[in-house]
Amino acid sequence: MTTPGGQKCTGRSEDILSFPCEVNPEFWFSKRSTEIREAKEACGHCPVRPECAELGQDEEFGIWGGLGPDDRAAEKRLQLISLEAMINSRIRIMQAEGMSISAMARELDMPRTTLVRRLRRATGLAA
Ligand code: SF4
Repeated sequence: MTTPGGQKCTGRSEDILSFPCEVNPEFWFSKRSTEIREAKEACGHCPVRPECAELGQDEEFGIWGGLGPDDRAAEKRLQLISLEAMINSRIRIMQAEGMSISAMARELDMPRTTLVRRLRRATGLAA
């Protein structure tokens, strides 16, 4: 693969000192779609891509681990939706088991008032 900086990156550990983003960092903070696309493509072959994506998950700017700000925001929304679904599923199970609101709140490590508000808000989860 040829990096945005014109270097050859094979993804081997000895290439770590010449990550594409270190050679040509402006591509990773560019506003041009072609440069952003090339930066993301280069990240896709980087041996530390997962770690880099995790490191940059709260960064406001730049491409980190192949993810730009919009990608990171979309990923966080998906994580939140998934977490909400998991909590709702646990609540339904606990309700089916006949647990009290207080016991459910303790189980979820959630303030009782928050759980009550949540139950009132959610359809199909009447308190
Ligand atoms: S994954 Fe991270 S370290 Fe690797 S090229 Fe992309 S921005 Fe650089």
